[in-house]
Amino acid sequence: MSHHAPLLRAAALAAFAVSGAVAAFTAIVPATDAELLVAKTALREPLEIRAQAALLPAPATYIRAERFERGDTLAGLLARLSIGAGDAQMLVRRREAKLLRPGAIVTAEVRAGKESEGELVWLEFLAARDALVRIERIGEGLAARVERPAIATHRELKSAVVRSSLFAAADAAGIPDSVSIQLADVFGGDIDFHRELRVGDRFSVLYEMHSLDGRPLRAGRVIATEFVNQGKTYRAVRFGEGHFAPDGKNLRKAFLRSPLEFSRVSSGFGMRRHPFLRSWRAHQGVDYAARAGTRVRAVSDGIVEFAGRNGGYGNVVVLRHQGRYSTLYAHLSGFARGIRAGARVVQGETIGAVGQTGWATGPHLHYEFRIAGTARNPLSVALPAAAPLATHELEAFRAHAQPLFAQLDLLAQIRVASADAAFE
Ligand SMILES: [Zn+2]
Repeated sequence: MSHHAPLLRAAALAAFAVSGAVAAFTAIVPATDAELLVAKTALREPLEIRAQAALLPAPATYIRAERFERGDTLAGLLARLSIGAGDAQMLVRRREAKLLRPGAIVTAEVRAGKESEGELVWLEFLAARDALVRIERIGEGLAARVERPAIATHRELKSAVVRSSLFAAADAAGIPDSVSIQLADVFGGDIDFHRELRVGDRFSVLYEMHSLDGRPLRAGRVIATEFVNQGKTYRAVRFGEGHFAPDGKNLRKAFLRSPLEFSRVSSGFGMRRHPFLRSWRAHQGVDYAARAGTRVRAVSDGIVEFAGRNGGYGNVVVLRHQGRYSTLYAHLSGFARGIRAGARVVQGETIGAVGQTGWATGPHLHYEFRIAGTARNPLSVALPAAAPLATHELEAFRAHAQPLFAQLDLLAQIRVASADAAFE
């Protein structure tokens, strides 16, 4: 095992040291899921044993964990970790310090007591690509090493019911954001998560979770998932690089259902409370109320036919796709880099951001979908699908998918059973 084994013990001891250590832990404000998990793990231990603090002698060192915030300075962070000025100066000059990224949790063991107050024992943080940076005191100086610790991967199976938004449901079930986003991506050809999500929709998801020495780091790929939207069940299993339905149909569609990026900010029912400005029939397009700045994405591979200002449309992008399809995105606040006539775009690529240029009373995206030049309602038009699995792949797919679908079935049975129990 690595040097992490004593870390947790040390973390426990740290809490005895100074009541300030507890405050330091609780001050961590997680921003992303990976950090949230780290922060939660860090929080658990010191708080449970705080009650005994008075019974124990003050130890010689304490451990603190602090998040390196966006806009933070290294000097500021080291001060929050109670690292003394001399060591802080040495640390700031070190080349490993440049590996520190906003969002990283920095853990440090620091000496207490009159003589050596603030002297660093060791400090560590995870840098990009899971490189563990550890800086240790060696005599009067500091030595650093960068390791690639063994990241373990296991699977988690969770389910949730939508009450207000996909993210709220995921939060309640402890499902990380990156998993929710993958989920929306997997079913993005079938479900418009901005307009078709309903209270009572539910989902189950089996996904990878990566951890370091038993501490969860972040979620990995979605392996299998089920989504029940408005009473209709969609299921998918990852196979190769794609996601496929039980019958081998490719979940990836030639067109995405929604031109808006799915994110914590852009999701939720709030959007549907905004009245649509006009009906589809009246103006041949669909309006998505969304916060200004929400990313707008190409619904399919294509070529930019027009990107510029055009009367009531304001800033508008027109894309030409395979066959006779074209799409139009209006009222944009601006265009993504490289989006100009003739440029090639791929499905899901950001082409601009929601704004209110042209004839728009508030920030929203006006979206048109045309087949052979005629506007069609994108919410109801049948869209071409990507190729299904070939016959020779089906057998391997079924062998791979069957136990995964069985896990989803089992979860569904448990859910039904517990719902029945609740009514007794
Ligand atoms: Zn419109």
